[in-house]
Amino acid sequence: MARILSGIKPTGQLTLGNYIGAIKNFARVQHDGEPFIFIADLHALTLPIDPKTLRNNSRDIAAYYLAAGLDPKTTTIFLQSSVHEHSELAIILQNYLYMGELSRMTQYKDKTQKMDNNAIGLGLFAYPVLMAADIVLYDAPRIPVGEDQVQHVELARDLVKRFNNRYGDVLVMPKAEVTKVGKRIMSLSDPTKKMSKSDPKGDIYLSDDLKTMRKKIMSAVTDLGHEVKYDVVNKPGISNLMTIYSALTNKTMEEIEQEFANKGYGDFKRSVADALINEMEPFKARYEQIINSGIVDEVLKEGQIRASKAAKETLKRVQQAVGLYTLK
Ligand code: ATP
Ligand code: MG
Repeated sequence: MARILSGIKPTGQLTLGNYIGAIKNFARVQHDGEPFIFIADLHALTLPIDPKTLRNNSRDIAAYYLAAGLDPKTTTIFLQSSVHEHSELAIILQNYLYMGELSRMTQYKDKTQKMDNNAIGLGLFAYPVLMAADIVLYDAPRIPVGEDQVQHVELARDLVKRFNNRYGDVLVMPKAEVTKVGKRIMSLSDPTKKMSKSDPKGDIYLSDDLKTMRKKIMSAVTDLGHEVKYDVVNKPGISNLMTIYSALTNKTMEEIEQEFANKGYGDFKRSVADALINEMEPFKARYEQIINSGIVDEVLKEGQIRASKAAKETLKRVQQAVGLYTLK
């Protein structure tokens, strides 16, 4: 059974983009591999965040994982910071990624665009180093992510190639896997921008009540014309809503175009809202039950034990490969 590795950083309230591009996908693939799914709390420190918010967001993500059906018996669910090998491995791996390539990362460029150079933390710059450590620590060939994280996985691949060329077959080569539908859910107010939890414009939050979710779908920006047609260039708003609808109902774009052939945007949006609420109502009820129980901490504790065991082995292998004098 191939290992699967992915995570979400607790930087803000989870969005529908995180749900479709990540969480729902984790639940889908969990049974055809051995998944390690974590809460990337160390990554959340790369931009200023209130400690209480960080703690709450971290518990929240664990509860959403469980509400989406991740089975803690087979899926190891854990906090990145509870497995110290992530940090230790990053210290070693930082020597095999270069400043030039790190400065070319889209996420780094986006997030620092409006920042003063003197205020950009080293952690934000080195983010892909820690992410590479997260990945290789679990010997996981399969990395399910949204499209925006593919570049970081590619960098991790470069690192593995570089490292193995030098030291032999030490690290497992990872590969990004993006969902066919929903790898990049766009903002409902500007469908040319990605829906992001740290840039809350046109987001649907998993914490929104059902009425708010419906209202947000109904007031989503649409395009000129009245035809429900998948055309990202000319109809980015409608195409985004079609992607959401498709991800929720498993209907193909052709089927959706046919379904709404003689109907307008209003009818279509109502159907998207219905599909969303249909899925979110039981999901949110499960979340409420989980977050108000002791199960989250139990799962994270058990996850820490299982993840640590796997991580320890890889770290040791890397330490030995690079020539650190390791004791029995
Ligand atoms: P931030 O703004 O803090 O970067 P984010 O919403 O981009 O937050 P991440 O924690 O960076 O979320 O990413 C978690 C996972 O969700 C990743 O696999 C990422 O690719 C995926 N993801 C994030 N936004 C979207 C989106 N709009 N559509 C599909 N997948 C997404
Ligand atoms: Mg992101």
